Amino acid sequence: MQRALLDAAEHSDSTIILTPWRGVIVTPVPTDQASNVAALLQEAGLVLDPASPWSRISACIGSPGCARSRGDTRSQAVKLVRRLSSPDTSDDGSPYHIAGCERACGAPHTPHTLVLLGSST
Ligand code: SF4
Repeated sequence: MQRALLDAAEHSDSTIILTPWRGVIVTPVPTDQASNVAALLQEAGLVLDPASPWSRISACIGSPGCARSRGDTRSQAVKLVRRLSSPDTSDDGSPYHIAGCERACGAPHTPHTLVLLGSST
């Protein structure tokens, strides 16, 4: 992913900005380079659609990165995105944070639904 970001920045003579909200800004991108840069980033797995459920889901590192975690938060994020992407799911568009324990590291300071792994709440 880092390689794709560097390629996109070099390709368009742009700057990469990492945001505190886990986003990446590539700017400025000349209009005639926008589709090429977008394709590079999408091929690397980055989400460019602000309407994607990925844009409102965060997670702590979970297992195996944290010994306290009761599970793999990233795989739970994938499952949650699949569920939210289903036309059968009723969804109000609110954000979610997935955590492996009650510490809820990295949880947003804005209203969200906390998903605690291994918890019945
Ligand atoms: S919320 Fe818990 S499991 Fe997740 S990174 Fe923090 S301490 Fe580890």
